[in-house]
Formats: sequence, structure tokens, C-alpha cells
Amino acid sequence: MAQTKFLLQEKDMPQVWYNIQPDLPVPLPPVLHPGTGQPVTPADMEAIFPMSLIMQEFSPERHIPIPEELLEIYKIWRPTPLYRAHRLEKALQTPAKIFYKLEDVSPAGSHKPNTALAQAYYNKKAGIKRISTETGAGQWGSSLAMACKFFDIECKVYMVKVSYNMKPYRRVMMETWGASVVPSPSPDTKIGREILERDPECPGSLGIAISEAVEDAVTHPGTKYALGSVLNHVLLHQTIIGQEAKKQMAMADCYPDIVIGCVGGGSNFGGIALPFVEDKLNGTHKDTRIMAVEPASCPSLTKGLDAYDFGDEAGMTPMMKMFTLGHQFMPPPVHAGGLRYHGMSPLLSHLSRLNLIEATAVNQIETFEAGIQFAQTEGFISAPETNHAIRATIDEALKCRETGEAKTILFCHSGHGHVDMASYDLYLRGKLSNYEYPAELVKEAQKGLPKVSA
Ligand SMILES: *Cc1c(COP(=O)(O)O)cnc(C)c1O
Repeated sequence: MAQTKFLLQEKDMPQVWYNIQPDLPVPLPPVLHPGTGQPVTPADMEAIFPMSLIMQEFSPERHIPIPEELLEIYKIWRPTPLYRAHRLEKALQTPAKIFYKLEDVSPAGSHKPNTALAQAYYNKKAGIKRISTETGAGQWGSSLAMACKFFDIECKVYMVKVSYNMKPYRRVMMETWGASVVPSPSPDTKIGREILERDPECPGSLGIAISEAVEDAVTHPGTKYALGSVLNHVLLHQTIIGQEAKKQMAMADCYPDIVIGCVGGGSNFGGIALPFVEDKLNGTHKDTRIMAVEPASCPSLTKGLDAYDFGDEAGMTPMMKMFTLGHQFMPPPVHAGGLRYHGMSPLLSHLSRLNLIEATAVNQIETFEAGIQFAQTEGFISAPETNHAIRATIDEALKCRETGEAKTILFCHSGHGHVDMASYDLYLRGKLSNYEYPAELVKEAQKGLPKVSA
């Protein structure tokens, strides 16, 4: 019987995070101050982040040590297993070898605690007493709620209102870990009150929730803000995934021809992909295809403009050069599969610009089809976000069936779907539709892009 499960020992856990910045052939474009339009300085960002994380954001060091105390906490669920999908391969009748890295074995059910715990740790070291954040589907909010509780930090979560109403269990998870959660837009911030006055029925968006959380941090003493994706330091913390996966692929005597991950802001994809991009850059594996998969209804990487934009609706965050649908873009609430941020991680945007990664967009019905085939063969019920990666994996494996090529495919199984059964229910009852690319909404939103002279 061929081996299915590849396990590392605790002692084999990576001791460092991999920072790709010094290896980039062209450096990242500067991040610009929202007021002056000039490159931001670390001091500009101190109002919302502790200096240790700001230094990681701009670090020139290739390897950043993972603090011992944090490694001990990671050991609650790390190292995570890597599986070979023999049963899925058989069902697809493909010569391809499919592997997946299971990141949903964390207490919160996704990859997000890898950075939530790191961010809570550095905030604690900086003497921070309270953290504000936003959450969409609630995966990030619940991961941060747990992390804050571990480090005895108060946690305030602005949860996008549609999700707050549609996904009550994630709210309860956050409250179980001791966070306080409000639907966004909320009356708790100036920006929230303004939006509610204009449109009391506003369903909210990640962009609005970020504005509220940032305003909260700058107006409350002892409070900092935390972001669960997009930024360099977040992707950095996630590189533990790809580093482990590399060791496990070696145990399986394989190296991936294709590495796949779903993308919202880019953290799980960055986590699995960056250590493989390292091998592309240093020439040891130049031809690996590295593929980001996004929803057709919020396709920043495949259809966005490569432009400077704000990270939030109100334009309070620094401006970042990234593929963006426009910070005022409000994704259609019918989309069940998460991954609804208007922009893409500036680091991944840069890798795409340099043709080091590729991107594809998939429709939601097809993602659920893939998720159900995966559940019925491999057993695991995956997060709707993860189903995007599974869709692309199955499509690549089916291409191998056509061509007869036995490619090796690795994807990041970013989370389980146990708290997303309402979305599965819609799919199973035929009530889910494919929402077309909202070209008009995007065109409108992109009119609001900031003017940048550089
Ligand atoms: C949050 C989340 C994502 C998307 O976020 P990225 O930062 O793009 O990785 C994907 N999968 C799961 C399970 C998530 O919780």
C-alpha cells in the first residue's frame, strides 16, 4: 500500500520564517503615506503596529528566527500533516500525483493562527493591552481572538455585517475565546456612523471593517491593529507552511511541478508558495508553476488594475502598489466562498508582475463541485475558500489525464468547512448561482483610485 500521510517530528519544525524580500530580482515598490504621498517611514506606521512587526514588514534579512515561546504554542497542532490524495487521483483516473498540506488542524480550523499568534506575541512584547481587527467570514477574527486570549490581550472585532448575520457560529467562536464582536459598519466608530447615516442597510465590506478597526486603534490608547492577510509580515509568518511541505515532499521523494493555493489577500498561498519561489529564484527548480486561484466574482489578480490603492474603504491606510478592484469595491453578497478583498498582497502582486506566479479565476458552483468530490474521496470537508484550490488542482489533474503526463501537484488545504455548512446547504439545494464578474461595479470603484504622481 502506497504511503498516504507524511508526518514531521516536532524537532523538524522550521526554526525561522523565510523572507523573500532580499531574493527579489526587483525590489518591492515603496508603500506611500496616505496624506503626503511620500514613501512611509517605520515611524509613520507606529500608530497602528508595534515596531517589531514593522521591522519585519521591511526586513532585508532572508531568515527571521521564530521565537521559542511561539514555537512551543505552534506545537499544539504543528507540524501539520501532508497527505497524498490517492483516492482522489483514482477517482479522477489521472496519472498526476496530488499532495495537500493540511492547515485546518489548528484549533481555529485554518492556517490563520500561524500569524495571529505571532502578531499577538509581538504586540504583547511591546506592552500592548488591546488589539482591534476586522473579519469577513470570521476565520481571521476567531484566530486572533484565540491568540489574544493566549497572550492576555483584549480583542475587538469588526465583522462584516452580511457575515455577522449569515455566519453566527464564527461570532460565537470569537466570543468563546473572549473577543467582543460588532457588525460592521458599526456605531462604534466615526466612519461607521457616517456610513450608517448614508445607508442604514449597508451590508459592509472588508474595506469598511478595516477602516473601522484602524480608526479604533488610533483613537484608543494602548491599542494596536492587526491584519490577517495582505501584508509582508503576515505572509512571512505563513512561510512555515511551505517550509514544512518541502521537507514532507522530500520524504515522499517528490518535488511539485505545480504549487496551488486559493487567494483572498494571499496569506495561505504565500505561505505555501514562497519557499518554492525561493527555489525558482535560486535556480534549483526554475520551472515550477505556482498558481493562485481566486473567485471569478472578486478577481483582483486576473482582472484588477496594477495601481497604487488604499487597503481600506476610507483611505486611512498607506497606499500600496497592487492588483486592485478599487478600495470602494463592494463584492456581491451572493458570493458564498469568502476571498472577498478588493486588493491582492503587494508582495504577490509583485511576483505576478515578474511572472514568477500565475493566476486563475474560478466560479463558485464549480468550486463546491470540487469540494464535494474531495470530501467524497479524501473525506475532509473543506472551507469554501479552500475549494477554489481544490478546483484548480482537479482541473490540472484532469489535464494530465488528457496528456498522460504524471505531474506532481501540491496544494494548500487552508481550512475545514465545518462552520460553512450553510453555504454547502445552498449548493446542495441548487440555490447557489454563478455570479458573473461585476465589471460595472469594478469600473465604478476604480474611478476612486488615488492619484499618485510616481
Ligand atoms: C482566510 C482564509 C483564506 C483566504 O485568505 P488568504 O489570506 O488569501 O489566505 C483561505 N482559506 C481559508 C480557510 C481562510 O480562512
